[in-house]
Amino acid sequence: LKLYTAGIKIFNFQKKGDIFFRQKTTTPLDTYFNHYISLPLPKDKILASYVWIDGSGITMRSKDRVLEKLPCELSSVPKWSFDGSSTGQAKPKDSDTVLIPSAVYRDPFRMDPHVIVLCETYYGDGTPTATNHRANCAKILSKISNLEPWFGIEQEYTMFDFDMWPIGWPKCRGYPTTKSLFSYCGVGEHVAGREIAECHARACIYAGLDYAGSNAEVMKGSWEYQVGATLGIKAADDLWLGRYILNRIAEHFGVIISYHPKPMGKDQPGIGCHHNFSVKTMRSDGGLTEIEKVCNILCERHTSLIKNYGLMDGEENRKRLTGKFETAAYDSCRWAVADRGASVRLQRNVVANKKGFLEDRRPAGDCDPYRICALLGEIYVE
Ligand code: ADP
Ligand code: MN
Ligand code: MN
Ligand code: MN
Ligand code: MN
Repeated sequence: LKLYTAGIKIFNFQKKGDIFFRQKTTTPLDTYFNHYISLPLPKDKILASYVWIDGSGITMRSKDRVLEKLPCELSSVPKWSFDGSSTGQAKPKDSDTVLIPSAVYRDPFRMDPHVIVLCETYYGDGTPTATNHRANCAKILSKISNLEPWFGIEQEYTMFDFDMWPIGWPKCRGYPTTKSLFSYCGVGEHVAGREIAECHARACIYAGLDYAGSNAEVMKGSWEYQVGATLGIKAADDLWLGRYILNRIAEHFGVIISYHPKPMGKDQPGIGCHHNFSVKTMRSDGGLTEIEKVCNILCERHTSLIKNYGLMDGEENRKRLTGKFETAAYDSCRWAVADRGASVRLQRNVVANKKGFLEDRRPAGDCDPYRICALLGEIYVE
């Protein structure tokens, strides 16, 4: 069978049974891919990937559209909509769900001038969807902008092979022999997936995130990246976009990224998302008093906070917060200096300088940073 378009032969097909096969060519498929990807596009065609958090509260979705000009400010990025019934965000009879752009980033995959647009989701009636926690976070942080809240967030994650076993672990459900002793900030045979973490670093910085660093984590095949310290809501925006970029890069490498707080059971380390927080008074001379005050409030509110610190009302996080593997127990709260077994930790130099910030170590790897930042900010809202 031969297919012709406008008189030009484009492909030869062979008929085999009922299935059509493309004729084998000796040209590597990369060659074709590279050809199309480097086609010069007209200057007034900007590809924009609209990205949002779906109804699961952790998985992200994206779809693309062509913009006629480079969006120089947020207000010039058009709103859009999607089928919320296919993402767990709407009922089929009222499925038009709205995408409101909240931040624009450079696209590290397509490169300039193309962009990624991080969005909030709204129901048709204009109210935020159930998993749109950004709307409330933005509201709270705008009320305390005079206090200059800074957030620094540490996202841990695990890389899985397609056999659903962590990369670098022995195949057929084997466990790393040296357990957790050498993997944290490790090198060589004690770590796996560095290429992915490295690509992620470059892509995040290119995109315009306040990406701050990375390290291999305690469990082999798991890593961490940090964003911030950043003023206001941008740290949480950047953390989410960092997740999106990571999931996209994972596609290239054939790995699956998991943010589950305890992916490999009770005898293996957990996966967290520490939130570091300060306001101007904490960073000023004598700020330690203010820091200690907030630490006490964070522990007083423990029972209600912890429900917001991970998916499923925090219940999965219970598996992680056991008091082992540098965590505190789920049902209690304790703050301390230089103690990774505390719920809230102050770095030693914060106490030495009598100013700085605090670290809330309770949030799970699968938490929504908008919820955490909102709750931290809420301490200052009357
Ligand atoms: P650790 O693993 O020891 O907790 P990291 O370097 O991974 O340390 O994380 C420390 C985080 O604290 C960084 O994300 C950084 O941005 C953040 N941070 C530093 N100073 C402040 C501050 N004044 N306010 C809020 N966050 C801060
Ligand atoms: Mn359609
Ligand atoms: Mn860290
Ligand atoms: Mn860590
Ligand atoms: Mn930390």
